[in-house]
Amino acid sequence: MGKYKAGVLFGDELEALYKDAKQNQFALPAVNTIGTSNINATLEAAAKVNSPVIIQFSNGGAQFIAGKGMPNDHLQANISGGVSGALHIHNVAKYYGVPVILHTDHAAKKWLPWVSGLIDAGEHFYKEKNRPLFSSHMLDLSEEPIEENVQTSVQFFKRMQPMGMAIEIELGVTGGEEEGVDNTGIENEKLYTQPQHVAYAYKELSKIGRLFSIAAAFGNVHGVYKPVNVELRPVILKNSQDYIEKELHTATKPVYFVFHGGSGSPQHQIREAIGYGAIKMNIDTDLQWAYWEGVQKFYVKNEAYLQGQLGNPEGLDKPNKKFYDPRAWLRKGEETFIKRLEEAFDDLNCINRNA
Ligand SMILES: [Zn+2]
Repeated sequence: MGKYKAGVLFGDELEALYKDAKQNQFALPAVNTIGTSNINATLEAAAKVNSPVIIQFSNGGAQFIAGKGMPNDHLQANISGGVSGALHIHNVAKYYGVPVILHTDHAAKKWLPWVSGLIDAGEHFYKEKNRPLFSSHMLDLSEEPIEENVQTSVQFFKRMQPMGMAIEIELGVTGGEEEGVDNTGIENEKLYTQPQHVAYAYKELSKIGRLFSIAAAFGNVHGVYKPVNVELRPVILKNSQDYIEKELHTATKPVYFVFHGGSGSPQHQIREAIGYGAIKMNIDTDLQWAYWEGVQKFYVKNEAYLQGQLGNPEGLDKPNKKFYDPRAWLRKGEETFIKRLEEAFDDLNCINRNA
């Protein structure tokens, strides 16, 4: 039996995992998924390394699960797709033996109705099953004034906390571009979160519950680019921890931090951020590449078998069905994705954390 139950974590067990990660200096990889193929691959990788994992959907990822062709004028695709993905994970995670933190990624102001819709669905689910549909949601109101950011997050946390759910918020701005939000030209000071802002958020969210985490900006960037003149400074996280400990008289390292834009980061800086209380790292971009790389290599290797339904180097009327069957090439994407995700678990000091 594992330290944590297989399936979707919430409440006391979710808090135990947050604490475990902070105390024992590991972080969980947060994987953006868009359908059963990379959800299952994530569960397979987590089972291989015997650790819990965070599976998350962006608003676009959730929509993709419902289908890009579904009408979405009331966000019904974003909402129902999120629910479908969540139900799939509730259904299969236990058979993989994997504890999962089930989460949604960035929701800027215009996406708050999406999160509200997911909480509505989650409240129905809770009434029936006595457990939440998701472990946590993220709000990203970092574009708004700090008071609005924090107070809106407090309102959402009030709805989620009674179900044993956690909230993630963002302070300061992650650079780069993701889901159509382009922060590539942002002024430098916003790329480094102020300790005073973290302290304010900590104080306000603590009034509701303990299960909150903060994505603070420390020069991190979404996506992978040629090196630019933004410097990754994990010490920003330490400065905030020290400031809050002193100002609010808390225990040491009071905050659970989240590392966004982790793709392409060197291991020593990842480990440094973990040492300062980062318990979650998002690694979307590198995993997108890993999935594609498997498909690409499959195509290059089998090119002569993939030009028509019939005909390959073994004969003009030989069938190619076993090469173009989506299960053949999607599985190759899954295999390279799993291999890359295992490396991420290792970078995050997150091997055998369910023992
Ligand atoms: Zn992010």
